[in-house]
Amino acid sequence: MSKKIIRSVCPYDCPDTCGLLVEVKDGKAIKVSGDPEHPFTRGTLCVKMNRYQETVHSPLRLNRPLLRTGAKGSGEFRPISWEEAIDRTTERWQKIIDQYGSEAILPYSYAGTMGLIQRNAGHPFFHRLGASRLDRTICSPAKEVGWKVVMGETSAPHPDEVAESDLVILWGINAVATNIHFLHGVNRAKQKGATIWLIDTYQTVMSSTADQTYIVRPGSDGSLALGLMYLLVRDDLIDHDFLAAHVQGFEELREKILPDYPPEKVSLFTGLSKETIESMAKAYGIAKNPFIRLGSGLSRYGNGAMAIRSIVCLPAFVGAYGKRGGGCLTGTSTAGVFAMKEVLREDFMAKKTRIINMNRLGWALNELKGPPVQSLYVYHSNPAAVTPDQNQVLRGLAREDLFTIVHERFMTDTARYADIVLPSTSSLEHSDVYRSYGNYCIQLTKPAIPPVGESKSNWEVFCLLAHGMGFNEPFFHQTADDLIDHLLSIRSPMREGFDREAFSMGKAVEIPLPSDARTRFKTPSGKIEILNPKESYPLPYYLPPYEGDYPFRLMTGPSLYALNSSFREREDLRKREKAMFLQMNPADAEVKGMREGDPVIAFNQLGEVSFILLVTPKIPPGVVVAEGVWWLNHCPGPRSVNALTSQRLTDQGGGSTFYDNTVDVRIVRE
Ligand code: SF4
Repeated sequence: MSKKIIRSVCPYDCPDTCGLLVEVKDGKAIKVSGDPEHPFTRGTLCVKMNRYQETVHSPLRLNRPLLRTGAKGSGEFRPISWEEAIDRTTERWQKIIDQYGSEAILPYSYAGTMGLIQRNAGHPFFHRLGASRLDRTICSPAKEVGWKVVMGETSAPHPDEVAESDLVILWGINAVATNIHFLHGVNRAKQKGATIWLIDTYQTVMSSTADQTYIVRPGSDGSLALGLMYLLVRDDLIDHDFLAAHVQGFEELREKILPDYPPEKVSLFTGLSKETIESMAKAYGIAKNPFIRLGSGLSRYGNGAMAIRSIVCLPAFVGAYGKRGGGCLTGTSTAGVFAMKEVLREDFMAKKTRIINMNRLGWALNELKGPPVQSLYVYHSNPAAVTPDQNQVLRGLAREDLFTIVHERFMTDTARYADIVLPSTSSLEHSDVYRSYGNYCIQLTKPAIPPVGESKSNWEVFCLLAHGMGFNEPFFHQTADDLIDHLLSIRSPMREGFDREAFSMGKAVEIPLPSDARTRFKTPSGKIEILNPKESYPLPYYLPPYEGDYPFRLMTGPSLYALNSSFREREDLRKREKAMFLQMNPADAEVKGMREGDPVIAFNQLGEVSFILLVTPKIPPGVVVAEGVWWLNHCPGPRSVNALTSQRLTDQGGGSTFYDNTVDVRIVRE
């Protein structure tokens, strides 16, 4: 049979949302490459997706429903039919509902697939069921809060505008790992003479792109922003006209807050010298159109929302929000491009059910009462690996009375604890529609290949479960394509003028940005709200991070070869990463009597995790770094990094605090 090329989209939780060209022969994807016609990703993919066909057709793919036969966590199952799997699930749920009420059932999902239909397919079903709702806050809600408090619903600048900036600040972002296509614009800016800064807590691979790398103490970023604003005011490097016309609260911040952040004090918070802070402020103040790209990691401290809020205020001081090529990009908001209420169907809820924060799954499974969680339904997520406080999560998953269903492509750490495992399609096997959070493209996908084995999409499974529970709403009798057609039939101002024909053909198309995005700020006052009267703290200030009881701050950075726990099925990628390393500064290693390659254990009040030590000056003293989330069966010990991270939440937004933990490290003696 001849080959054909089908357009698709990378489904993973990444702001780039790359366009794919999938080469298909005899019903199999034989090659996946970047779509050169994608306006933002331009035909290249990251190292993880270059061989996506090996994930899709991996011999490790689950291809039949499974029923547990061994102990929870043992991974012992036997195949069953879909009919039996659905019957067993709905019968057990009916019993749980009769005994405890429907809130004893908890869904668990996040962004294992980013397609709007498949990602959210469980919402209507669980709303109709009356299950507990999940507060899906594991990533960066504090970052969203920090932006919204100051900028409201204002659109972020187009990421490609960075190419026109003369000072690019990569603040807490390892873009090679998490936003690689943004670097296209950064490199163009550099070629045109721009200066590139990296502000981070350790020297990531981005240091080689940057002209200057500024290493700050973990969690001190907010104080640096306030210190820079102090100096911009002191040295009159501010844009008076812009501040007068477009900013609310400049005078109040200048009088009430900034006097507390002179460089000598900010130096103590950040670890940067007073002179360095002075030179940063001067360079920022005289730049024509400085552009800040903010990562998500720095919002994952207890002070995350306030830190982001402080940084988002900074460009207002120099009028950068009003200049093309300037401003701050935390993420693009394309939320209004489709009428998501038609997918989420909150109206199916007979009453508002309780909400459980996904970062507190360990607590919910072990301690929550009224009613206790009696069933967990996990789809495109691997909470045993990615959720904080792994020991408590695993304790909960091991409960014999907890009825757990996992719908997945692979036998993940979580699937091993399931009572029933359901095989899931990959993104190449179902229809979906995508929008990005790092650019302004939208794209439609159709199946490129038939489902592998007996796998089914989220949409199909929730329809089966709905029928099994006797839900008669026509909504559950439509296909994913029907729902996509319905979504597209609803007009949105954000899609006005977009290229409908190209979109229908599966091409990525950009939605047009409002022409007045740099002068009309979508806040209640119409101005940038440095002072936001609705907040309990109307002005930003510096909140210190968590103190902790152990000598090292643990940074859980992203890996180049995995995305959270996705891609860990790929041996080729694991081999490139080599091992589950803990990175440490040479001076700290010497004090500890440790050497490169030593097996070590990092520990704190929550647990302990084995690593291989990597000694490098790229890590500052007092910090240790563990990149990536490994599956348990690939770890050097019985736990992975999230046995060390806490269920504490961010100051606002209920976000995770993956970066705000302390540990000590000991060597493993024979
Ligand atoms: S993970 Fe990100 S960079 Fe890699 S292919 Fe997917 S969208 Fe593109």
